[in-house]
Amino acid sequence: MSYQEIIDKQRSFFNSNATKDISFRIQELKRLKSVLKKNESLLYDAIYKDFKKSEFETYVTELSLIYHDIDLALVKIKKWAKKKRVSTGITNLPGKSYIIPEPYGTVLVIGAWNYPYQLSLCPAIAAIAAGCTVILKPSEVPSRTSAIMAQIINQNFDANVFKVIEGSVKETTELLNIKFDKVFFTGSVPVGKIVYQAAAKHLTPVTLELGGKSPAIITKDVNIDMTAKRLVWSKYLNAGQTCIAPDYVLVESSIKDKLLAGIKKYIEKADYHVDNDNYTQIINEKNFDRLNGLIDQNKIFIGKKGNKEERVIPPTVLNDVEFTDAVMQDEIFGPILPILTFETIEDAIKKVRQFSKPLSCYVFTKSKATKNKILNEISFGGGAVNDAVMHFTEQSLPFGGVGDSGIGSYHGKYGFETFSHYKSVLQKPFWVELDLKYAPYSTKKLKWLKRLIG
Ligand code: NAD
Repeated sequence: MSYQEIIDKQRSFFNSNATKDISFRIQELKRLKSVLKKNESLLYDAIYKDFKKSEFETYVTELSLIYHDIDLALVKIKKWAKKKRVSTGITNLPGKSYIIPEPYGTVLVIGAWNYPYQLSLCPAIAAIAAGCTVILKPSEVPSRTSAIMAQIINQNFDANVFKVIEGSVKETTELLNIKFDKVFFTGSVPVGKIVYQAAAKHLTPVTLELGGKSPAIITKDVNIDMTAKRLVWSKYLNAGQTCIAPDYVLVESSIKDKLLAGIKKYIEKADYHVDNDNYTQIINEKNFDRLNGLIDQNKIFIGKKGNKEERVIPPTVLNDVEFTDAVMQDEIFGPILPILTFETIEDAIKKVRQFSKPLSCYVFTKSKATKNKILNEISFGGGAVNDAVMHFTEQSLPFGGVGDSGIGSYHGKYGFETFSHYKSVLQKPFWVELDLKYAPYSTKKLKWLKRLIG
């Protein structure tokens, strides 16, 4: 069957109105949770083969988030899908106004490789909860996770409701040539632009979850030990291959050495090695070479040469980094942490604002004024105060970028909204109608109208 035929069939199924039924959506979400649970060992096995990601990290950063999203949707779906009454202005009384969430229709979800399960399945869960039918195109880079998702989903779901199509650029380009009712993309900025242009040809709305250089700004009044602990965990999780990992540290110069000592302590404590399951491989040789090229040997504070055969780059910290260094030109997306300093908070803000609006920003400070200044003056997708990455786990917070780091958001009810159109309706009774707006017009009518509507 061609892609066009698969999508046409999904659209006719959508048009049958079956997915409008909340109990149908609940049934499909329960099915998803049950097939994932049943096949958990296959999921762990595939991701380990792809980049030696351990069961621990896979559960904590992938499966638990997927299960939470399903559970939350199951509890809240009726509330989210409910028609909402809103107020009606005097000109339309005694009418009533309401908003009906309606599913967009047949949607395309394109996943990224770094968290291959949750970045593919969480948007799909939101789409199913909203009543859409879904074509999922996972990233081909971790080929076993892509294959196992295709196997599990395609064996257990009606292809008219949820289907995985595997492929790389060629297949994705072909899919993007077809009209969808919504495209949800997670990936890099350059490919995000390609997706946006392709969707524009069909006037298809998009959500783009992209990347960028996310800073961690640290002032001299912090608890240095706790700051170092949280920084190290958030940076080296998944070997730094996390879109919201702190890309670089901007620390007030007077505490730099103490912070470096804290970072060293927690890197050593974590015992990051692939063979003890505390660490993951770099996804492929291309990224290994790219990352290796960013390590300036003269600036290494912690770290040693990576092992290309094993695709492992140990946690690396670069000291005395300048904004002009190679490592500061693009998103790093790997286990290299550049440390830069600032003297005044105004200077730090100015430096961050040299870059495009980041996906995340982290501020570590005890000063309310500094925190407020940063939150007020730096535009970013989402972030945390005195922590990093953990805002992603809060289902009550929308997750998404701004400017070059993305368009739109998801998670929890925001995911439901992302795949819904909010249809607005004014309903009037037949029994009454003011004559004022009808021709023939007169100055008297205008006078009354001005009084009425201001
Ligand atoms: P990518 O842009 O290379 O690939 C993403 C998807 O696009 C894949 O499914 C791939 O098959 C497809 N693709 C690649 N080239 C294409 C083309 N020319 N035409 C059509 N489709 C194409 O991104 P990636 O390497 O998988 O992920 C890394 C990037 O994603 C980083 O920039 C990271 O910050 C970002 N990211 C963002 C988030 C987020 O939630 N905002 C999450 C993870 C990763």
